[in-house]
Amino acid sequence: MKGYINHELADATGVYLCRVRNPRNIMWRIYISVCLIGILVWSGCDPKEQQGAATDDKLRVVSTIGMITDVVKNVGGARVEVAGIVEPGVDPHFYNPTPKDVQRLGSAHIIFYNGLHLEAKMGDILAKMSENTLTVAVTDSVDRSLLLTPQEYDGLYDPHLWFDVKLWMQAVEKVRDVLSEFDADNTVLYRSNAERYLTKLAKLDEYVKSQVERVPSEQRVLVTAHDCFNYFGKAYGFEVRGLQGISTATEVGIADIQELATFIAERGISAIFVESSVSPRSLEAVKATVKSKGFDVEIGGELFTDAMGNEGTPEGTYIGMIRHNIDTIVHALIRKSEL
Ligand SMILES: [Zn+2]
Repeated sequence: MKGYINHELADATGVYLCRVRNPRNIMWRIYISVCLIGILVWSGCDPKEQQGAATDDKLRVVSTIGMITDVVKNVGGARVEVAGIVEPGVDPHFYNPTPKDVQRLGSAHIIFYNGLHLEAKMGDILAKMSENTLTVAVTDSVDRSLLLTPQEYDGLYDPHLWFDVKLWMQAVEKVRDVLSEFDADNTVLYRSNAERYLTKLAKLDEYVKSQVERVPSEQRVLVTAHDCFNYFGKAYGFEVRGLQGISTATEVGIADIQELATFIAERGISAIFVESSVSPRSLEAVKATVKSKGFDVEIGGELFTDAMGNEGTPEGTYIGMIRHNIDTIVHALIRKSEL
């Protein structure tokens, strides 16, 4: 949790409450300020004008992670031009916005982000943007009783709720409602697009459940690089273990590797999984440590966790990413249990 900043949206209008736990380097603040001044000069206009809904032009939306970009594409359709900040394969827990990102954010009508501390290092810039631009956390309206607060996260909410498809559908509803309110002339379009997308997600949820059924119940253990599958575990009946904590910002020590290796060997877990946005090195060390205990565990494949796949590939969409993950998990666990 060291170095993390607490940000919560006070309400749907994007008013930010910002409580800095560990104030960041003064140079970083100066950098952000210079970038912001640059944007105002560059755009040559009062940013408050950007609050109004677009007329003929498309709505300019900027989102942080790919999963949100995909929601906006599906709900906004041709009315919306959306740009994502965090590229495929990049870890959002650590991501620092570039000057180009700051420029994009400055020219957006609406900014969507996940919230719940996922975009920890973007906190300052999102807070600054929220002064003049509608800045909304898609998790803002999710019933807090449905959110998880794992012990290791110091009482804060786990941000990885896209792994429970039903819960992520609430993020879709949030995007639908914000777009509809901001651009009321196109409410019918946003509602029908959202309806269609939500139907697909309901089918996706059923698909995940049916795939899980194929795995013998004692084999339903998911071991990954960091603890991001808690929502998946709860929704679909998997025991989950991550080498790192909820955030990839926490350090992995030899004791963590030993502890996880012991767990894997004792439970006879056949496959563990690397993540596309986290270095596989630590999990490879776990595999080697398991071997030193006289047991073999295989790397069952790569899962897309905090970032989707490349654009144009099946995993470059939220639906494709979730399908890839469950297919990879089920394939590896079944394959091994059938040997
Ligand atoms: Zn994560």
